[in-house]
Amino acid sequence: MASPRKPHPYANAKAANAKPKPNPLARASYLCAAHNPGQLPPDGGAEVAFAGRSNAGKSSALNALVGQNALARVSKTPGRTQQLVFFDVTAGSEGAAAVPPADAKYLVDLPGYGYAKVPQDLQAHWQAFLDGYFGSRMALRGLVVVMDIRHPLKEYDLQMLGYAVRRGLPAHALLTKADKLSRGAVGNAVLAVRRELESSFGDMVSVQAFSGESKQGVDEARAVVMDWLELGR
Ligand code: GDP
Repeated sequence: MASPRKPHPYANAKAANAKPKPNPLARASYLCAAHNPGQLPPDGGAEVAFAGRSNAGKSSALNALVGQNALARVSKTPGRTQQLVFFDVTAGSEGAAAVPPADAKYLVDLPGYGYAKVPQDLQAHWQAFLDGYFGSRMALRGLVVVMDIRHPLKEYDLQMLGYAVRRGLPAHALLTKADKLSRGAVGNAVLAVRRELESSFGDMVSVQAFSGESKQGVDEARAVVMDWLELGR
């Protein structure tokens, strides 16, 4: 009688090697910061914008999605936050030919307001800049709104969601810092936000729990962004 087969010594190593999926967002690198429409990169490819009130956890979420610790600086001065920051996820290695504008894929970090006091005239400037950006940027494929799961759907969040939905773009709500709540409370918060968004925006906005700290929900959020950018298909 044949003896039971022993597992191949490398079987586990093989399974482990097969598991991690490559993350196309990991190539993200800083491209530029735009303070006015004239500084935007060419409008030819595909991009996903990220919005969130100051301190919501947007930088931590961006860093978790790209799998880098310091792409979006986690602590920022108010001055530095007043710009649209473009991260390029198509940049090749140094010396490689730049991709044509039509193939460019960007993550765009939008300025967040919050308890950072912004003077009235600067508010007006940003309002106009963002109105124009959301209204006319052809490359824009979708909006991610990062909200602290304990304080969701503030005025700023609804304004950003409104910009996207009015333009016919999908939006995705990341309810972050989910590690701060029990599993039951996370589920309740997601349901409550989903219900409210459905009544305001129909099926244009999806919702998930997230944590830059525990990495809960990172794969799900990454899949949404990659789908909008048509990456990894
Ligand atoms: P931003 O202003 O929206 O970019 O927020 P940051 O990413 O800078 O985060 C603001 C603060 O919240 C920092 O102290 C982070 O360490 C913290 N933070 C961000 N994400 C999480 C999270 O998922 N869990 C917890 N517990 N803290 C977080």
